[in-house]
Amino acid sequence: MADYDRNNIFARILRGELPCKKVYEDEHALAFHDINPQAPTHILVVPREHIPSLNQAKDAGTIGRLALVAAEIAKQEGIADSGYRTVINTNREAGQTVFHIHLHLLGGRHMTWPPG
Ligand code: AMP
Repeated sequence: MADYDRNNIFARILRGELPCKKVYEDEHALAFHDINPQAPTHILVVPREHIPSLNQAKDAGTIGRLALVAAEIAKQEGIADSGYRTVINTNREAGQTVFHIHLHLLGGRHMTWPPG
C-alpha cells in the first residue's frame, strides 16, 4: 500500500472531521487515545504529514519526533518509570489497518516478549 488515501480515518481525525480523545498536539503531530485499547494506556501518535507506512518514510525528524512525543506522553501518563512499549505496525503481517503512519504507545500493565 504505497498510495496515500486522503480519506483514511487518521487523515479525517487530523482534519477535524472525526472526533478523537486528544492528549497532545503540536505543529508536527497529534496524539489521541486508541478507540480499542490493548492496555490501560494506549495512545496513538500520528504525524500531520501524509505517509502511509514506515516503508514510505523519508524524513528522520518526522519519524524520530513520534518516539520523543511518546516518551513525553509516557511521563505525563505516569508510566515512564514502570515502562511502556512503542510500536509501529507496517503492512499486512504486522497487522497495520490504518495506512497513515502512527506509533502506538502502550503501558500500564506487564507485557510479554515476543509480541504475538
Ligand atoms: P494499526 O493496526 O497499527 O494500523 O493501528 C490502528 C489503530 O487505530 C488500532 O489500534 C485501532 O483500534 C485504532 N483506531 C481505529 N479507528 C480509530 C479511531 N476512530 N480513533 C482512535 N483509534 C482508532
